[in-house]
Amino acid sequence: MDIAAARALGAVTSLPRGPLVEALAARFPAHAADADAARRLAVQGGRAAALARLDAIDPGGYARSRNHVGGAVTRLSPWIRHGVVGLAEVRDLALARVRRAEDAEKLVSELAWRDYWRQVHAALGERIADDVDGPTMQPRAPVARNEVPDDVLAARTGMACMDAFADRLHDSGWLHNHERMWLASWLVHARGVRWQAGARWFLRHLLDGDPASNHLSWQWVAGTFSARPYLFNRENLETYTGNAHCGTCDLLGRCDVEGSYEALTDRFFIGPAGRESSPPTSLRGRLVQTFVPPPPRAPARPLVWVTLGAASSRGAAALAFPTAPRIHVIDPAWLAAEHPGLKRLVFLWECLADVQDLFVVEGSPVDVLPAAAAALGCDGIALAWTPCPRERAAAAAVARVLPVSVVDEAPFCDRSRVDDLRRFSRYWQRVRASALRPTSDPAEPHRST
Ligand SMILES: Cc1cc2nc3c(=O)[nH]c(=O)nc-3n(C[C@H](O)[C@H](O)[C@H](O)COP(=O)(O)OP(=O)(O)OC[C@H]3O[C@@H](n4cnc5c(N)ncnc54)[C@H](O)[C@@H]3O)c2cc1C
Repeated sequence: MDIAAARALGAVTSLPRGPLVEALAARFPAHAADADAARRLAVQGGRAAALARLDAIDPGGYARSRNHVGGAVTRLSPWIRHGVVGLAEVRDLALARVRRAEDAEKLVSELAWRDYWRQVHAALGERIADDVDGPTMQPRAPVARNEVPDDVLAARTGMACMDAFADRLHDSGWLHNHERMWLASWLVHARGVRWQAGARWFLRHLLDGDPASNHLSWQWVAGTFSARPYLFNRENLETYTGNAHCGTCDLLGRCDVEGSYEALTDRFFIGPAGRESSPPTSLRGRLVQTFVPPPPRAPARPLVWVTLGAASSRGAAALAFPTAPRIHVIDPAWLAAEHPGLKRLVFLWECLADVQDLFVVEGSPVDVLPAAAAALGCDGIALAWTPCPRERAAAAAVARVLPVSVVDEAPFCDRSRVDDLRRFSRYWQRVRASALRPTSDPAEPHRST
């Protein structure tokens, strides 16, 4: 491994925004179509910005207003996605800000959705890219488009709401949960776009882009991993946007989502698909967390693999081995699969800037990690627990030649009673009590080797 080049690319992380955008655009030209948006990006990656945002959380306001686009949502998702703040850390602060744990329940249960999707992702692996379940409703028109239509990408559909959402997604890389649901539902049910095409589009732009939450939420909306497809009408959108769009819309009164829920169901579906929804049995049974067998001897001087979900000095492996060298691997397979735009890369790089003495290498982790460990005098690899099948497969392959330690993040909830991942409601039932309890020592990571 070329140590000097890896150190030089690592040092790029500390550049200010302008030069960082230019450096990344030069290095990843195929990902630089949104370079202007990356230059304008209002949010900053890294722990300091995350802490400012964390300090603003208001669990009571959240419970009252989270469905409103202007409501008191945390906007923490880009930092949570990269492990810059943890679910347990957000939960602990939320609990500290209320009198009774139940007063923070709405926020904690939404954090649990992320936890749940990650467990489902770990269980299904690459299969989250296929329908988890058969559709419960038979669509009237085929849902067969494999690409997001050009008018949507150009934000010129004529629907003021959808055009505003598409513009904002492209420009800021963040949308409110309700906006994501509306956009996804309209694309799949009204425009006949396959959910996979919409999910790919979102992943390119979202700063919090994460296959677990993204693909599985798209499936929830499409009705391939939920009891029924998610529909909304104009009245619902007006209520939660404070009538921000319909008043100026040329299609007012004749848009795709005008009418009652009964009328919309009739517009988009012939009727029930003829079979009950029953997610695969592989989602039943006790959770299996291990993907790399614990090595007989844990590495004494590991190389910490700073993965996408732990792109921070607060990642579980980085906390467990504070003086170990760290490496981030830009995997061409990730670039090809998610095609992240420059906004995402800039945000990621700014998160990585907090990681001291970071080596950054482009290549397959299976090749890079053993070579880097040898070059840096390390006797193994440590990484934070991850649901990502690509990272899990790479760690398993590396474990055949080197000891690999998988370090769990600070526990958000006790999953030992979870025996069914087929529906969130069942998951929440099992983990609720523990999720509503604060961590005793949030800084102490649990080592699973
Ligand atoms: C079609 C679609 C695609 C999505 N894609 C992603 C994605 O790629 N990455 C992503 O992190 N989230 C995704 N979500 C989930 C959710 O929309 C975002 O996590 C949330 O809107 C982020 O805003 P926030 O931080 O203000 O959330 P808040 O409402 O303040 O919630 C706090 C945190 O809880 C978690 N959370 C809240 N709601 C959800 C949820 N429904 N599912 C999973 N986690 C949740 C997030 O980590 C979030 O940061 C998607 C939702 C839909 C409907």
